[in-house]
Amino acid sequence: MASADDALRAEVRGWMAAHVVGEFAEAGAEGGPGSEHLHVDVRRRWERVLAGGGWTCVGWPKAHGGRGLSLSQQLVFLEEYVRAGAPTRVNVIGETLLGPTLMAFGTPEQQARFLPGIVAGEELWCQGYSEPDAGSDLANVKTTATLVDGEWRVTGQKVWTSLAHEADWCFVVCRTEPGSVRHRGLSYLLVPMGQPGIEIRPIVQLTGTSEFNEVFFDAARTAEEHVVGAPGEGWKVAMGTLAFERGISTLSVQLGFERELAEIIDCARAGGRVDEPVLRDRLARAWVGLRIMRVLALRGLAGHEVGTPGPEASVTKLYWASWHRDLGNLAIDVLGARGLVGEGFPYELSALQRSFLFARSDTIYGGSNEVQHNVIGERVLGLPAEPKVVPT
Ligand SMILES: Cc1cc2nc3c(=O)[nH]c(=O)nc-3n(C[C@H](O)[C@H](O)[C@H](O)COP(=O)(O)OP(=O)(O)OC[C@H]3O[C@@H](n4cnc5c(N)ncnc54)[C@H](O)[C@@H]3O)c2cc1C
Repeated sequence: MASADDALRAEVRGWMAAHVVGEFAEAGAEGGPGSEHLHVDVRRRWERVLAGGGWTCVGWPKAHGGRGLSLSQQLVFLEEYVRAGAPTRVNVIGETLLGPTLMAFGTPEQQARFLPGIVAGEELWCQGYSEPDAGSDLANVKTTATLVDGEWRVTGQKVWTSLAHEADWCFVVCRTEPGSVRHRGLSYLLVPMGQPGIEIRPIVQLTGTSEFNEVFFDAARTAEEHVVGAPGEGWKVAMGTLAFERGISTLSVQLGFERELAEIIDCARAGGRVDEPVLRDRLARAWVGLRIMRVLALRGLAGHEVGTPGPEASVTKLYWASWHRDLGNLAIDVLGARGLVGEGFPYELSALQRSFLFARSDTIYGGSNEVQHNVIGERVLGLPAEPKVVPT
């Protein structure tokens, strides 16, 4: 007898076969981290088609417009999504970060205002956390917001804001209590991007393209009620979002990795290199690493709770970020001399070359490797805590 998961698999496979056609099939799996500039318009249209079929936000509760799929069902959906070569999602930040944050910390009014736009694929989001002096040390945020005539006015600078140039809204961590320090006095505001008080300047990456930006706020406005959680208590909400950052989205990233590894193995075969013992060993180790990541991610998700990410999340992040960086090295080694030159004119990087370069950033965003080592050292191994800056 077919299980519920099998039935879902058949349903997703059928729907994808009928809809991943034309421009969507042409775009295929291109796009996503390192290639966000590719097929943006097609991917935005795809988001709406997907929503039309009820296939966005599949893990959200039905009450919030999702499908209420269990963890194993979400995995089935993701596997079929990748198998179908469906376009890479363009609103991952809205679906996996802001949406769950609003469900956990938002008011019913905020949920009613913002969740449908994410489900429908109509409103795209970006994350305004990092600043020039507040990356790993997020509590050092300096951007301020002040209530003036029933509106927040936001002033300051964010940096590395992924997809700010595509986003309609940004969730901004800012200081709303003058004179406050560290994690006290911060608030979590929802700010519309298309307004005169916001300037977005793209940052060119190693890949030669720009998917993140500097964002300058100069008395940018948002409504008084667009604060998530109590004013001054944004730290708790911001940490809640980070916990979601290491949630189910990790699994979909890994399915992309699986595709990359398959391509690398194909290249090794095509180049007649699968007999080289060292290369075989590295390919096998990469494959084993993928399995380990899957187990880590599933174990982490099974015990997932809203709040400060625990040490398990650090182990998972450290493992997959380092694994993917090493996979980039492996890809270039397998490509050999071909890996060093661009194809055609004008100069274009292949997907594997882009991945090699972009994977450098995996060990930085979402908590750098060094920071993860600190967490593991202190919270798992019980080593002495690193000296903390004491506010004066
Ligand atoms: C591709 C990409 C996308 C991003 N997207 C977003 C986004 O959408 N929104 C957003 O808000 N931010 C985003 N970021 C920013 C990201 O969160 C920060 O880069 C990250 O938090 C590190 O901060 P930083 O760059 O300021 O480096 P810093 O914190 O200044 O760190 C510099 C170096 O010092 C090390 N270091 C720092 N503190 C310690 C410590 N206590 N112990 C040991 N070593 C330490 C770090 O590991 C790093 O090697 C993105 C970054 C990248 C690379």
